[in-house]
Amino acid sequence: MLHSDPNTDSHRKIWTAEGARAVFDLPLMDLLFQAQTVHRQHFDPNRVQLSRLLSIKTGGCPEDCSYCSQSARHASGLSASKLMEVERVLAEARRARDAGATRYCMGAAWRSPKARDMPQIIAMVEGVKALGMETCMTLGMLDADQSRQLADAGLDYYNHNIDTSEAHYGNVITTRSFADRLDTLDTVRQAGIKVCSGGILGLGEGPQDRVDMLVTLANLPVAPESVPINMLIPVEGTPLADAAPVDPIDFVRMIATARIMMPRSHVRLSAGRTAMSDEMQAMCFFAGANSIFVGDTLLTKDNPEEESDMRLFAKLGLQPMQAHEHHPDAARRAELLAADPAIPILR
Ligand code: SF4
Repeated sequence: MLHSDPNTDSHRKIWTAEGARAVFDLPLMDLLFQAQTVHRQHFDPNRVQLSRLLSIKTGGCPEDCSYCSQSARHASGLSASKLMEVERVLAEARRARDAGATRYCMGAAWRSPKARDMPQIIAMVEGVKALGMETCMTLGMLDADQSRQLADAGLDYYNHNIDTSEAHYGNVITTRSFADRLDTLDTVRQAGIKVCSGGILGLGEGPQDRVDMLVTLANLPVAPESVPINMLIPVEGTPLADAAPVDPIDFVRMIATARIMMPRSHVRLSAGRTAMSDEMQAMCFFAGANSIFVGDTLLTKDNPEEESDMRLFAKLGLQPMQAHEHHPDAARRAELLAADPAIPILR
């Protein structure tokens, strides 16, 4: 099912489509048990990283992603805005930090940034870094020079989702290719920026497309540090306005499979949480999700209010992760081992 990759360290595995599908199709209880076991080997299972997302330039995008309200090609009724002023972004970031967010993600609805936008973008990265937060940006396709400029400014993460499988990609987006997506991921990685890349469920894909998307991500030369898994929020006026809803158990399966295939990555429960019950979110956390977006809007979509997130965390005994806390610290590892020496904690 798995083969070791001789080019990387001994933890690294190359996944086949069949091997990944076999995991995805496990009886649910076996899948969840395996995912939770893997999760505990690499992370504190009771800590969840909180990211905050701000749209720094909304709407008017020339791309035709069929799920997106920001495409200028769809009649979603969203009006385009200009790139936000740096001071406003920093004021929002400060508020997010004070409310507990440790990572600040800034998204612009572009095919790719223009040279004239770079100084403003760089000032945003530097300013948010100075607040002690991790920085993430999603700006569309980047070339090597833009990636280097962002790396020099101190950008921690670049988000660039592959969305779905290579086979299904052309049914969802026609203005760029799956290969374009992988090129930007490679360029960003080469510049030394950490990668955030995942996809969306509910785009009319089948189960094999879902698995194939995870295989692409897990088999990248270095797996993404963050893997957002989104559930489509259908938007009026977009081609996917009437898309069939995603089955909640299928969504949980996807989270668990992502956790098993990318054991060291943060798996993020992203868009679509407003449509998820507390029970479904709890299952996702058990399946290995350990990151969420907080705040009441996600670019242009609703997101659960922070208060309801904190109520859910209290009910589940979850704690927010600190900035730059990626693995259990020494004290916490000792605590977990003392509680159950059989738990194989990452050392
Ligand atoms: S998903 Fe991004 S690239 Fe695609 S239309 Fe929306 S803003 Fe543009």
